[in-house]
Amino acid sequence: MSQKRIAAAGLVYTIDLRALVQNWTELASRSRPAECAAVVKANAYGIGIEHAVPALWQAGCRSFFVALPEEGQRAREAAPGAAIYVLNGYLPDWGGYFRDFRLRPVLSSLASIEAWAEHFAGEPSGVQVDTGMNRLGLSLREARELARRTELVKKAGIELLVSHFVISEEPAHPLNAAQIALFREIRAELPQLRATLANSAGIHLGPDYHFDLVRAGIALYGAEFSPHWPPLETVVSARARLLQIRHAAAGETVGYGATRRLEEDTRIAILSAGYADGYHRLTGSLSGRPGAFVLIRGQPAPLLGRVSMDLIAADVTRIAGAMEGDWAELFGAALPIDTAAHFAGTIGYEFLTQLSTRAERVYINDAVNP
Ligand SMILES: *Cc1c(COP(=O)(O)O)cnc(C)c1O
Repeated sequence: MSQKRIAAAGLVYTIDLRALVQNWTELASRSRPAECAAVVKANAYGIGIEHAVPALWQAGCRSFFVALPEEGQRAREAAPGAAIYVLNGYLPDWGGYFRDFRLRPVLSSLASIEAWAEHFAGEPSGVQVDTGMNRLGLSLREARELARRTELVKKAGIELLVSHFVISEEPAHPLNAAQIALFREIRAELPQLRATLANSAGIHLGPDYHFDLVRAGIALYGAEFSPHWPPLETVVSARARLLQIRHAAAGETVGYGATRRLEEDTRIAILSAGYADGYHRLTGSLSGRPGAFVLIRGQPAPLLGRVSMDLIAADVTRIAGAMEGDWAELFGAALPIDTAAHFAGTIGYEFLTQLSTRAERVYINDAVNP
């Protein structure tokens, strides 16, 4: 990334690959002796599969999970030796991807297991069982039927038993115990398979929940995975350029829809970022409802009015020295991405996966391509 492009950018993401690697190393140590796989679906939660996967591979990560075959292709090109699982399963017209990029489907119905066995006899796969989410996966009854059909299990190459938590971020919730009990029951019927249940928060429920492999997603990327645990190292930060300072008088309004009327004379900073940069429109403020804030010169500048497509207004009345050309932090080490997301009524997962393609990206501490 050239300095010229960064200087001319409205919004810049800085993505710290050493922090990503440190987070994986930390989660791997919290999970041992289970294997710690990385979930890199949705472009590695927005940060870029092509950067995240080689960094994680070099750190020692050997198994990756994506949602879609196309993501699997990108992960394969980044890590030729990895085991890559496709969580959304297998449909017969996806076969080319699975063959060309040696992907392993996580199969979720008896019909798809039969189809995989027919077209990919003996090639490795996983099977997902539903233990309470009512999303993808075999029911207990279907899992029992599968367990009886030992020839099919073999022919479909099934080697991994997968299930997924509903509410692992709340350790005391009774569904966790119910899910693990059902998972153990199904596992007892298919004891030859490796087993995986835990996502990021599930890792923190304790060693009973780790089984043979854990699937770390959000915690790798430094966002909040449970209100009961601190997030790991910050991986992504976003900063926007301050384009202009203006003054408005008490009683005037700011932005589209005139939704925010000023109670006092105000110094307004106009920032070069907006909802087209993935900074959610709902972070803005209305009269009587405060919005998110950004940091300018390290101090909080509350948003004024609606977020526009390309611009954001923030109150810098009390920030001495704020001036054109400054960079405002939208989220990062000093302002967690989840704090910004909560103002929009959403979660860090959504903010991360909505990182925009318009913004410039700067990858730092890249040990693979320094
Ligand atoms: C997304 C996903 C994960 C990762 O969950 P995090 O909460 O981000 O750690 C693990 N397993 C499955 C099946 C998923 O869909």
